[in-house]
Amino acid sequence: MPELPEVETVVRTLGPELAGRRIADVVVREARLRGGVAPDLPDRLRGRLVTAIARRGKYLLATLDDHRVLLVHLGMTGRLTLSSGSPPWERHDHVVVRLEDGRVLVYNDARRFGRIAVIEATAVEAETGLGLDPLAAAFTAEALLALTRGRRTSIKALLMDQRRIAGLGNIYVNEILFRAGIRPARRARTLRRADCDRLVRAARAVLADAIRRGGSSISDYRDGLGRRGWFQLRHRVYDRAGEPCRRCGDPIRSRPIVGRSSFWCPRCQR
Ligand SMILES: [Zn+2]
Repeated sequence: MPELPEVETVVRTLGPELAGRRIADVVVREARLRGGVAPDLPDRLRGRLVTAIARRGKYLLATLDDHRVLLVHLGMTGRLTLSSGSPPWERHDHVVVRLEDGRVLVYNDARRFGRIAVIEATAVEAETGLGLDPLAAAFTAEALLALTRGRRTSIKALLMDQRRIAGLGNIYVNEILFRAGIRPARRARTLRRADCDRLVRAARAVLADAIRRGGSSISDYRDGLGRRGWFQLRHRVYDRAGEPCRRCGDPIRSRPIVGRSSFWCPRCQR
């Protein structure tokens, strides 16, 4: 499911295409997404100019020319793709945004855990309620160390907690912890300054690498122009239980932590 690198890739592929474009019309074909699609969504979008596209955690934010923001969360299986002309409807095409230049932006979501809403720009903070972004300058070893103090929870649970650190999910947390040499089940409060330093550097490296490869397309994910990502071919531990570690050759282990499959190398991670 889409995490920070996938949403960032959608933002980067859609940004140059959507910025400065005006919305001609919106059709909601299925309103039963997370929280429901507000009945007035088409009215709030029709005629508006998109001025900028940005990411906050796993949210995509399209700023409109009326001080409102179109907020999109891809949930588990959401895709937001732009195409020219009027393609035939596909199953799960729930919201269709037609631009003045004739192109259409389609929100498709098989499992419907995603969310689409128009909110006031001033409400973005409250609506997203997010912690530190791992790509922001404020995500430092000191900041991470502070978050881990007194936390009995595992470092994996802490990294996946969107209120503390925004944008990471099961795939990238597993990959980042492998790169940092830290076991997912390790208690957050046992991390030292040097561990946090390695974790911050690992997070930046893994995320940058994933964004360069257009994210991970494990099932449904596509970028803003409908293309697959390729970072899944670079996964070192995720979904590799029993396979040899690419660094030391020992078999990768797996068990659920925080309700999600965790993968690690018992020799490379402490
Ligand atoms: Zn290993």
